[in-house]
Amino acid sequence: MSKRIIGIDLGTTNSLVAVWENGKSRLIPNMFGEYLTPSVVSVGEDGTIYVGKAAKERLISYPDSTASVFKRHMGTNKEYFLGGKRYLPEELSALVLKKLKEDAERYLGEEVEEAVISVPAYFSDMARNATKRAGTLAGLKVERIINEPSAAALAGQEQRPEEDAVSLVFDFGGGTLDVSLVECFDNVIEILAVSGDNRLGGEDFDEKIAQYFIQKQNLDAGKLSVETYAVIKKSAENCKRALTENKKADMVVNCPDITAKMEISRKDVTQICLDLFERIGKPVFRVLMDAKVTAESIHNIILVGGSCKMPIVQQYLIHILNRKDLEIREPDHMIALGCGVCAGIKERNEDVKDMLLTDICPFSLGIGISDARFPRQTEQLMAVIIPRNSSLPISKEETYVNAHDYQKKICVRVFQGEAMYTRDNIFLGQMEVEIPPMPAGQVICLVRFTYDINGVLQINMHIPLTGEKKQLVVVNSELGMTEEEVREKLKEYEKLKLSPAKDEENQYVLMWGERLYMQCDGEFREEILRRMQYFRYMMEKDPYQIPKVRKYLTVFFAYVEGAMEHYVSVDSSLLQDADWYDEEDEETDQSFKNWNEEDDE
Ligand code: AMP
Repeated sequence: MSKRIIGIDLGTTNSLVAVWENGKSRLIPNMFGEYLTPSVVSVGEDGTIYVGKAAKERLISYPDSTASVFKRHMGTNKEYFLGGKRYLPEELSALVLKKLKEDAERYLGEEVEEAVISVPAYFSDMARNATKRAGTLAGLKVERIINEPSAAALAGQEQRPEEDAVSLVFDFGGGTLDVSLVECFDNVIEILAVSGDNRLGGEDFDEKIAQYFIQKQNLDAGKLSVETYAVIKKSAENCKRALTENKKADMVVNCPDITAKMEISRKDVTQICLDLFERIGKPVFRVLMDAKVTAESIHNIILVGGSCKMPIVQQYLIHILNRKDLEIREPDHMIALGCGVCAGIKERNEDVKDMLLTDICPFSLGIGISDARFPRQTEQLMAVIIPRNSSLPISKEETYVNAHDYQKKICVRVFQGEAMYTRDNIFLGQMEVEIPPMPAGQVICLVRFTYDINGVLQINMHIPLTGEKKQLVVVNSELGMTEEEVREKLKEYEKLKLSPAKDEENQYVLMWGERLYMQCDGEFREEILRRMQYFRYMMEKDPYQIPKVRKYLTVFFAYVEGAMEHYVSVDSSLLQDADWYDEEDEETDQSFKNWNEEDDE
């Protein structure tokens, strides 16, 4: 049998992996039996690399050797220094992919060689290429990059393959909103339009609730320390999440400067966030307008991303799209499930092999030109060659002429974006070709843009008069790694040892304990330390006891966590009476104490 292909949602906060199995897309659980693996990487003092849950715990206790949200910087040269080594965002992403690959191989019991990876529709060429390179470093062949809304629509379509439908994919995460309109017709899936707001997300709701709290408590925002504001913001997020479950919630802030509580309702949040709702509506109406589709023609609304869980957001969508209700499936899983379908299509599985996925170019692509009518105008205009929302793959050619008399070369500068002047768009690359010096308008230059299904752009220039041809594949070599570097690094990554899977649960519990130790004080601290020491001792002395001791430790930590969240003062009787305590363990506990004392001497 050919090697398996997996589908990966490489997310900003969490990543998921799926596979096509027994006629459907299935999520693959990690070592913890969970589908969501935090997209966090941390390097231990001994050079061990932690990825996922254990790494996330180290964000607070070892912030200097831990990295998160690096997806936001994919395709850039932003540097992260972990454990004395430099990492680019694509290298950190590679470590997450490597981990997901390992989880998938363990689950499937066979090797995985290839992956379909999803990226946000607004990802530039640089970011897409960086994602592919990350795959290569992780030992995965990545032929297919899929836009996240297309993946979500595929997952939606998998539910009802017999129906033709227009779906609105509403992807609302922590910091961005992406809205897409996708049509599934005769097994062909086509994105009709995309729009969004890359500065709007759940964090804006946190911010509004935090400001409301500051105002209600008559606090002077200008005088709050960064640390205090961070505590207020975190409490605001907790409160927002509580409002997903209940119509009213308490926002509790308890830090050295402030101890206060405020009751807030869903209705209050709708009032204080009116401008956010207005911004949510804009891209929704824009995709309808771009695709010339009415709200009534939308068959289903697919919700993606954590912020979609907010009932007030769902109600607002029901309101603006004039519907009775929404059909809701787990928003966190939709993209990965769609990637699983895409993997199934690539494997040419019987059930889905006829499905054809088309995609669109989510932004306009063009070149900078001078307007011959205004020779003194120095600003270059954006001449669009591939307009936004064109179906992929696409290849289009335009004809240009030399703008000035006797100029010696023509330089094609390539841009992405919707602005009128190139200075306001994103520069992707450039190439030059020499031309015979002739009067303006007499040398013809043909420029062809070819944008493939993976969103990789190729530009061809042709001067018919001289026969000169040039080609540019847009990969900005100054950003991210060069192919040479990838080849070099690959050798290193093949040998790289991630924290061994069998040890992962232990490492996670230890990291969890270290974080709690930092965040607590007094008796909790002492108790955490005592139990951690005991656990470490058992890890060395009696491996058979590890699962049991780990379970007790987990129950204890969960209890500490809960107590911290609700700001319960430490009641020492609780420490002794908590139900993690097991009398059977008294004996070993005693031997531990002896060992500990001996060690102290
Ligand atoms: P994502 O990037 O999709 O993980 O979304 C993260 C955003 O979703 C953050 O702003 C979270 O606060 C928000 N979020 C996650 N779960 C919930 C929930 N149950 N209720 C409200 N917001 C949530």
